[in-house]
Amino acid sequence: METMTKVRELTPDYRMRMAGNVARSENAVWQYQRMMVSGIIKKELSWDEIQSMKKRVERLAGCNKIWDTETYETSNVKVLLRTFLCKDKFCPNCQAVKRMVLWNRLQPYMEQHKDSLFHMTLTVPDCTGEEVYDTVRHMADCFKILVGYLEGNRKVRGKALFLFDCKGCFRSLEIKCKGENLYHPHFHVVAVLGNGDVLEDKHIVNEFSRSKGHDYRLFSDVEVTIQRLWWLLINGQRRSYHNIVENDSLGRYSCVIDKYQPDECERLIAYVVKGSPTVGLADEDFRTLYHTLQNYRQIQGYGDLYHVKSVEGTGDYSEQDYQALERYIINGEQPVCQYEGTGRLAYDNKYIMLRGKYQPRNLKH
Ligand SMILES: [Zn+2]
Repeated sequence: METMTKVRELTPDYRMRMAGNVARSENAVWQYQRMMVSGIIKKELSWDEIQSMKKRVERLAGCNKIWDTETYETSNVKVLLRTFLCKDKFCPNCQAVKRMVLWNRLQPYMEQHKDSLFHMTLTVPDCTGEEVYDTVRHMADCFKILVGYLEGNRKVRGKALFLFDCKGCFRSLEIKCKGENLYHPHFHVVAVLGNGDVLEDKHIVNEFSRSKGHDYRLFSDVEVTIQRLWWLLINGQRRSYHNIVENDSLGRYSCVIDKYQPDECERLIAYVVKGSPTVGLADEDFRTLYHTLQNYRQIQGYGDLYHVKSVEGTGDYSEQDYQALERYIINGEQPVCQYEGTGRLAYDNKYIMLRGKYQPRNLKH
């Protein structure tokens, strides 16, 4: 098939920014290495763990460093075709790529349900580094049960607990490192809740009304019910109608549900660690998070949003993902599309760096 080459100029400024992203991943490499060394000295790591860490460090160290290129010596053109991305959870470069790909995958659902989207935050009390591994797994199990109540599949006294029509949701784990071995794991959830009138009628004052950094808050009946239900779930207590609705001697954990604001995507698909994934993360926190997040699904969809998946490890990229990836790789620069004769290019006195993408001519618009 006849092909055309769409080329984009990679300016020196862009190339410097790309190198800057790569340099930041060095920090993560050092953190892995320090963790490995200290694990070996203290005999805390098994041979298998050491080997798997070594591999991760190698991949991380090579992330976006080497490009598959085509050089046309006569015409002084170098075309950057492909790069290698390590996809490590702690790689700043890949974190940004993952966020962007995920956001791209979420978009069609957000658009489809834009009038009935809510943002729910669910928290549990702070825990220690020793507890956080089990805590986030327990939270994930409890959340799955909670979804059953939200969707009306789990009933209380034979009836659905909530009146809205929940079509699905999407949760993302975030862990805030508070220092001194304290961690604050919480879920950010986007939920499609249909008729939201019951959620916007906020009239209840409780122990969460005065929370640090927020205005005085009122809660809806739904929020207060979930606060109790979430507490019962986390603490393994009976989820009877009496306990959920009537028994006020029991506890609650914070739950806030607000109408989804389009600019909230940052928080919804946030880095798993508050702030930048590696900058400013103490070695001890890095170690704790590394173990906590092993084989943990940070992102999980339910119902209509079940198929929205994060790019994990060996995750395949679809054609749309590649397009989004490409936008990221070129740092959002507008492409310079042109056809140029080799004759003209031959008179340039240095290389022009180009990013090339071959595509069939019949796809040209
Ligand atoms: Zn990477």
